[in-house]
Amino acid sequence: MTTYVHDFSDGDKDQKDLLGGKGANLAEMTNLGLPVPPGFTITTEACRAYLAAGHEPDGLADEVSAHLATLEAAMGRRLGDPADPLLVSVRSGAKFSMPGMMETVLNIGLNDESVVGLAAQSDDERFATDSYRRLLQMFGSTVLGIESEVFAEAHDALKKERGTVEDLDLGVDDLRALVATYKKAILEHAGREFPQDPREQMDLAVRAVFDSWNTDRAVLYRRQEQIPEDLGTAVNIQAMVFGNRGMSSGSGVCFTRDPASGAQGVYGDYLQNAQGEDVVAGIRNTVSLADLADLDRTSHDELLAIMATLEKHYRDMCDIEFTIERGKLWMLQTRVGKRTPEAAFRIAVHMVDEGLIDLDEALRRVSGAQLAQLMFPRFDPGAERTLLATGMNASPGAAVGKAVFDWGTAVEWAERGEDVILVRKETSPDDLHGMVVAKGILTSRGGKTSHAAVVARGMGRTCVCGAEALDVDTKEGRFTVRGGKTVHEGDLISIDGSTGEIFDGAVPVVDSHVVRYFEGDDVDDPVVSAVTRLVEHADSTRRLRVRTNADTAPDAARARRFGAQGIGLCRTEHMFLGDRRQLVEDLIVADDDAGQEAALQALLPLQRADFTEILEAMDGLPVTIRLIDPPLHEFLPDLTELSVAMAVADVRGHRKKRQRKLLEAVTRLHEQNPMLGLRGVRLGIVIPGLFTMQARAILEATAARVRAGGAPQPEIMIPLVASVRELDLVRHRIADVARDVAEETGIDLAFKVGTMIELPRAALTAGQIAGSAEFFSFGTNDLTQMTWGFSRDDVEASFFGTYLEQGVFPVSPFESLDTEGVGSLVRTAVRLGREARPDLHLGVCGEHGGDPASIHFFDEVGLDYVSCSPFRVPVARLEAGRSAV
Ligand code: ADP
Ligand code: MG
Ligand code: MG
Repeated sequence: MTTYVHDFSDGDKDQKDLLGGKGANLAEMTNLGLPVPPGFTITTEACRAYLAAGHEPDGLADEVSAHLATLEAAMGRRLGDPADPLLVSVRSGAKFSMPGMMETVLNIGLNDESVVGLAAQSDDERFATDSYRRLLQMFGSTVLGIESEVFAEAHDALKKERGTVEDLDLGVDDLRALVATYKKAILEHAGREFPQDPREQMDLAVRAVFDSWNTDRAVLYRRQEQIPEDLGTAVNIQAMVFGNRGMSSGSGVCFTRDPASGAQGVYGDYLQNAQGEDVVAGIRNTVSLADLADLDRTSHDELLAIMATLEKHYRDMCDIEFTIERGKLWMLQTRVGKRTPEAAFRIAVHMVDEGLIDLDEALRRVSGAQLAQLMFPRFDPGAERTLLATGMNASPGAAVGKAVFDWGTAVEWAERGEDVILVRKETSPDDLHGMVVAKGILTSRGGKTSHAAVVARGMGRTCVCGAEALDVDTKEGRFTVRGGKTVHEGDLISIDGSTGEIFDGAVPVVDSHVVRYFEGDDVDDPVVSAVTRLVEHADSTRRLRVRTNADTAPDAARARRFGAQGIGLCRTEHMFLGDRRQLVEDLIVADDDAGQEAALQALLPLQRADFTEILEAMDGLPVTIRLIDPPLHEFLPDLTELSVAMAVADVRGHRKKRQRKLLEAVTRLHEQNPMLGLRGVRLGIVIPGLFTMQARAILEATAARVRAGGAPQPEIMIPLVASVRELDLVRHRIADVARDVAEETGIDLAFKVGTMIELPRAALTAGQIAGSAEFFSFGTNDLTQMTWGFSRDDVEASFFGTYLEQGVFPVSPFESLDTEGVGSLVRTAVRLGREARPDLHLGVCGEHGGDPASIHFFDEVGLDYVSCSPFRVPVARLEAGRSAV
């Protein structure tokens, strides 16, 4: 028979699946001999059975009765006994803590009779009545589903009547009146009396916890955080201890280290004469742990000793909830505490130095996402700031600008050089122009998968979304913070996409210390030294190498400072822009071979100079250069604009020959789906001179570098290959060029020729292709587009928000590799390629090369390196190391 209920003494911290996080840790603390009020846990299995069947599973009620009887015996009291009641709390606790699920109901067991018993036993009628009104309030809102405002408003109204804002100023008569009001409110709003039967109170509370697994908010949260739907929650039933029994009692939360800075030393808040959530609710000012020492030395010292025990035991920073009842300390919860990225790095290395964990474990405890956070510019922590409100931290960064409320104004103001923050209730594809030019985006509605959030992350734009305290009036061009200030169009605001905070005015922004350190500045910062230590440890453990995507010598040099071990993708198309566009036009409109050849000859020295610089910046390290990839018309004027210009010229009667030819070319090259058109290797085959010119430029640059005493390692990469025949056509021409250059320069040229794998056909025929390629580089951006059949430039703004909300994928496949689909093509190509050519060198150069989850996948399938933007290089180094430990 299944056991649905476990006593706290029967379990441990590793049973989170069965007992939930709270239950598992209560069991752990109980077995450590810490002062935990006794109780028992109803398992997640019971919850799953309940949710599947729609009623409590057979046997659950009996098991609960048996455990309750044991608890009553231990406490020497019966639940809700009119003379001397045992009271319990019913506490939810899933494997992962989840906002949106039912919280906790305290003081279960009180009713019209037992409240009298409690008053008599404690000799404190105010305390008993206060406990009862709390029960009615929590039970009414969480179990019976009544808006909590109903209770809060009645409470506030009474305090106002008494001319106070302090809960503690209400006397016993006031509280008795409040109890009556609450009971009336329950009857009115829930259509039933508050249940007087203690066991019924308990059973209803348990059922409400089970049901809360499926509230909309909980479902949404699980989808966002990728928590499985079918875990269910556990329920903890625990004997009450009372922090609201006068000034020698109280309730608090504490951390074994500072969760914000990571500094060593305890940190916490305590509130006298308070119960449960009072501490975090901010109703009264809390005091620090140091002050607790003055109030109650014994409890304080015992608490500190327990904190040390817990930290040693968990070998991590712990977050603790405790209560003191008349000088006696009780532990009510602990867990490994959440922390800021700064704190994560500092705590991890401190713990290594304290001998609690080793460096591998420290590496597991930090993440690339946290390091990325530390590399964004941030608001100067020392600067003064006025917090307006807090929303969701949708896309990191620190943005300052003037508030604007429509995309038109955003564009207009940005064009005249102003920094703007686009503020909307929520964004739609119409707002895109405004989002592109804005420094940041702020919305009052929508979660982390809302349109604003998805698009902002895609563009790397700072975004705070779902700031519900803001009343945004786009028509009037202003927003009002609930109960606070109004910000008008043109007023300066600052938003922090890493914390979700919204500040009044312009908060000064400072560069990230971590970035300054990598750039070579002298920075004395404990966070930076922690980061360096762990990144260096990652370097010593990782198998995967990290290269960078860089198109210019300065970018290459910077990436090298950030630790790049070569270039995985050097795009050559930008080398055809600016002044050089003219030469490309010449090439395209050339009437004959001679004209084409002349245009190519003009481009050659320019390209050679580009490559020489880049090979110099990456001297001694491999540099993968991709031959020209985009459709040619991207280098030509826009068809409509050109047609208009021609029409005007016509009217004036001087239509130029060159313009006519240009128009012809533009018309000829115009494509419905340029992404699927004449680009990549197809261009190289149709206009062979283009690729051979580029190959010559690369090889002449190589020769020049060798002559200068350098050690260039060029790798020529052919884009968009689908068939080995395409690759062969191009490869033979490159070999001819190489022979010529070697002859002309008298230098023995070492280089490689390989291809991108970015079309499904290439992945599926990788065995054949590997016969002609010395390396593969997975172009996972195109491979994702081509596999899913959607265009990245279009879909992220149009329907990705909906797709994420509807759970088609948990995260954009352009952000994190779709390991099932696209990843399966990668696996296939790796296998076929290595079978055909065991020493085939493999890498990835798509956006995914810098994404933590994808990096672990690439390591697992056996790629040799990932390549990412210069700023992501440290993140990739760290994640590649984490993947190896
Ligand atoms: P949450 O998951 O929201 O933190 P908890 O179940 O931890 O909810 O309950 C919130 C607070 O209620 C606790 O921090 C504690 O102060 C109080 N509480 C819960 N159970 C008891 C109890 N048995 N005795 C006294 N206080 C309790
Ligand atoms: Mg808690
Ligand atoms: Mg591509």
